[in-house]
Amino acid sequence: MNVVGIDIGGTNFRIGLVDDSQNVLKLEKVPVKTVFNSDDPLLDLSNKIIEFTKEEKYGAIAIGFPATMNVDRTRVVQAPNIAFMENLPVCEVLEKKLNVPVVAERDVTFALSYDMHKYELPNEGIICGIYYGTGIGNAICINGVPLTGQHGCAGEIGHIPVFGSTEVCGCGNVGCLEAEAGGKALAKIQKEDYPETSIGDMFTKHANDKKVKNIVELMVNAVATEVNILDPAYVLLGGGVFKMKDFPIEMFNEFIRQKVRKPLPLNELKIIYADDEIDKSVVGASIYARNKLKI
Ligand SMILES: [Zn+2]
Repeated sequence: MNVVGIDIGGTNFRIGLVDDSQNVLKLEKVPVKTVFNSDDPLLDLSNKIIEFTKEEKYGAIAIGFPATMNVDRTRVVQAPNIAFMENLPVCEVLEKKLNVPVVAERDVTFALSYDMHKYELPNEGIICGIYYGTGIGNAICINGVPLTGQHGCAGEIGHIPVFGSTEVCGCGNVGCLEAEAGGKALAKIQKEDYPETSIGDMFTKHANDKKVKNIVELMVNAVATEVNILDPAYVLLGGGVFKMKDFPIEMFNEFIRQKVRKPLPLNELKIIYADDEIDKSVVGASIYARNKLKI
């Protein structure tokens, strides 16, 4: 049975039709503002799904959001980049309209579902995914079940506080890790301190400069914090910042060695540097939906 996987990002909207074997039969990527252009985002979304699927048959829809979600995973709670989706009954409305089960999740959980499948990781134990894009996304899977927490907001490592920081985060708090260590922080340094360097050359030209090094160290603080609390079986690391030209992976690994508790879990720590495939989010959506709905 085919699944429609959807990834609603701050900039791009991806939609794909994925078969039983996780082959992408059809994929579309468009600017998010071309999809949501009326005052009824759920009508816009269902119209887009109908337009994309046309006569194709599918048995479920899975939608990923860059957001915190309610514990039942039926509504977006807070999404600074797509605030128009907040508090709407997404699953309920789409299920009625399109007559198939609709599941929604944080986009990072779909990324982790994809990576666990791709790297054939076992369901047993704790598996963490940390993805460095504009912000820092985090998903935690325990014995095959994504950790949601009491209110749906577990796994927000990007929002742990950084001592002394005065940066305002997209979530509204001051001094969150992702305001100091995500792609947005790198872009800010580029703009303020290195206007002559393109963002793509930041690591090539300035990896050893204090402020850039500080970003790499703070990126590792996310890993070390999570590993020292959870002692996971595997840690998956990915996202656009890792894929930037000349990302200083040796420096990153040296900070890992400095900050993770010794001798264990450091000596046995299993880190996988995950790729960033273009269809990752929609295939991850399909894998997640099949596991959850048992289809
Ligand atoms: Zn924050």
